[in-house]
Amino acid sequence: MQAASNTLPTLFLSAQDVAHLVHRLGLPATLERLAATLYADYLRWPDFDKSARVASHSTDGVIELMPIADDTTYAFKYVNGHPKNTQAGLPTVMAFGVLADVDTGVPVLLSELTLTTALRTAAMSVVAARALARPDSRRMALIGNGAQSEFQALAFHHLMGIDEIRLFDTDARATAKLLHNLGALPGLRLIPCDSVAQAVRGADIVTTVTADKTNATILTPDMIEPGMHINGVGGDCPGKTELHPDVLRGASVFVEYEPQTRIEGDLQHLPADFGVTELWQVLAGHATGRTRATEVTLFDSVGFALEDYSALRFLRQAAGELGLGQALPLIPALADPKDLFSLLRATAPQNTTHAKPQAARLALAA
Ligand code: NAD
Repeated sequence: MQAASNTLPTLFLSAQDVAHLVHRLGLPATLERLAATLYADYLRWPDFDKSARVASHSTDGVIELMPIADDTTYAFKYVNGHPKNTQAGLPTVMAFGVLADVDTGVPVLLSELTLTTALRTAAMSVVAARALARPDSRRMALIGNGAQSEFQALAFHHLMGIDEIRLFDTDARATAKLLHNLGALPGLRLIPCDSVAQAVRGADIVTTVTADKTNATILTPDMIEPGMHINGVGGDCPGKTELHPDVLRGASVFVEYEPQTRIEGDLQHLPADFGVTELWQVLAGHATGRTRATEVTLFDSVGFALEDYSALRFLRQAAGELGLGQALPLIPALADPKDLFSLLRATAPQNTTHAKPQAARLALAA
């Protein structure tokens, strides 16, 4: 990365850069490295200054800021969620994020996070499923076949050994798109289904990743079989849920950051004293995950800032290895850091500054 001499080096990664990065590393290796980074950072849970994300709700969607920091690195993500967007030709979820140096506040990375959010969410689903699902799980139901779905399918196939995925979406074109994208993958059987109930029957893992700004009941208690692991991804906002409350009552429920999930997850339907376990406790060996083969486990995923911190950390590392990205002239480097005004002098029209520097300074100041 070449930094311009008069700016500090902030690395910029575009969506194309991240796509190149995935191609160069390979998708399975990218997901595996992301899962390893997430796992390592979740083990450092007490090191982080955590808060629930700041959400700005509107009629059709939400815009959120997700900050987190440890002693050395600060991160935030900007992300939206607008289920109606696809009708207007826009993605439901769009995002970007920043990593900054805690010592100085210098932003060291500005990156796209739309593609990366799909990758990190899928990798996080696997981190949870490795701790909670039955190890012999081979069959998954995938309800909601939109933008996130291929990433969920591939993460569970490559990292968890899932070899059959049963698909359902209320929009048949979304399922056809998934079949088009992944249908030729050897070793993965994709079976389109006519209903949620048909897709879920006999599944070891059920992933719900739908988008609708409503309290939906995609999964009802009659669909749940002993030993299932439910990976609930799409219920992530007040008034935007996927599971009948009795599905949670019948399961052992695991969450990312409890204060945030109580507001945003499917957990929002249950009383404040309904018991849940934060996933980091299981990963760190402080709490038990699955206790028996017939237990129903549920990861009530909403997406937590730590996952974007991990994803940004991974991107910075991998982009450095591969020489990807560009230096972004975002923050000025000043000969005298107290003379910010010099930046205006330096960019004033040449004839004015050379001919009459004093007059130019006065004109700028006016
Ligand atoms: P998308 O709009 O591209 O796809 C969503 C799909 O769900 C659409 O194809 C839609 O037809 C389908 N759908 C809606 N209602 C349905 C129903 N009742 N039954 C079956 N299918 C239904 O959205 P996306 O980018 O794939 O995101 C999916 C969801 O995941 C969103 O709700 C998003 O907010 C959430 N999300 C969560 C995380 C997390 O970390 N937990 C991260 C990213 C996205």
